[in-house]
Amino acid sequence: MGAGLLSIDIEAAVANWRALAAHSRAETGATVKADCYGLGAARLAPALARAGARRFFVALAQEGAALRASLGTGVEIFVYAGHMEGDTGIIRDHGLIPLLNSPAQFRRHGGALPGHPFGIQLDSGMNRLGMEADEWAGLREAALAAGPALVMSHLACSDDPADAMNAQQLQTFRAMTEGVTAPRSLSATGGILLGPDWHFDLTRPGIGLYGGAPYTGAQPVVQLDLPVIQTRALSAGEAVGYGRSWTATGPARIATVSAGYADGLIRALSGRATLWAGDTPCPLAGRVSMDLITVDVTHLDTVPEVLTILGPHQGIDALAEAAGTIGYEILTSLGPRYQRRYAGGTP
Ligand SMILES: *Cc1c(COP(=O)(O)O)cnc(C)c1O
Repeated sequence: MGAGLLSIDIEAAVANWRALAAHSRAETGATVKADCYGLGAARLAPALARAGARRFFVALAQEGAALRASLGTGVEIFVYAGHMEGDTGIIRDHGLIPLLNSPAQFRRHGGALPGHPFGIQLDSGMNRLGMEADEWAGLREAALAAGPALVMSHLACSDDPADAMNAQQLQTFRAMTEGVTAPRSLSATGGILLGPDWHFDLTRPGIGLYGGAPYTGAQPVVQLDLPVIQTRALSAGEAVGYGRSWTATGPARIATVSAGYADGLIRALSGRATLWAGDTPCPLAGRVSMDLITVDVTHLDTVPEVLTILGPHQGIDALAEAAGTIGYEILTSLGPRYQRRYAGGTP
């Protein structure tokens, strides 16, 4: 098979959810937006639900509709984008709970779907989504009287426990939600790790479930093995790939593997990443092209059928670092051309 093999360990994601849940007394939800960060919500979300997750979070109403089809009616599905123009039907038909971000959304929701559940998203300092303090003050009484399902905010710097912004946002969120009896939520993965003060009633981990930083204790969830299509011998002075950016300094052997930037192995990995022949590191040689990557395997006695780019020796964060990005982007970029194999997670 020419396509790379993306192995996704559902049990590892479930174990990560359980381990994060054990970090707090708050209820632990699950953020499953962007198709579980590219790993497949139709497979992962039901396994999380069986493990006990009852509240799920997506970015868009459309994602919520797909998730409802996978999970059935026994769970709550919250939508971070809130109630957007044109989303009323989908929110109603699939029983989604929009996290209302602005007074305009609050009015839209109340007008279009009176009595339909909603949550409130507050801005505690990130300046991205959510009502500002003055907007919230203006409609707080009406909103609380209508009985929100959740009042939440989001931390800007929770991947760095030393950042003073964490305490500042905690204080702001407390002040904005003083006296609120609805469930409150402030923390994603990073906030869970900051400690119990940040947990409130419900947490919303995403990346930690999928094996990424800042949850350094996470079990890895993905492995990516790329088939070697061809190997070739080079003499000193011969160059490899587009732009001839890698040149053999002596007799060399190059393996060409099947995957490239069209599969999410972004071009910034050129000349920087490492692939693995079992336990032996092999440097990426030259540029990543759309469908192919060239690898220096001169030091191998035998070239294996596959080289591993995500696996036991190099997780999503290590690969991300080579490309100057974050594990989130590596995961969500993994393209549709891989053969996907899921392990575990059957009912
Ligand atoms: C993506 C997101 C999360 C999950 O964050 P992780 O860092 O992946 O745990 C939680 N809340 C909001 C508002 C988000 O946008």
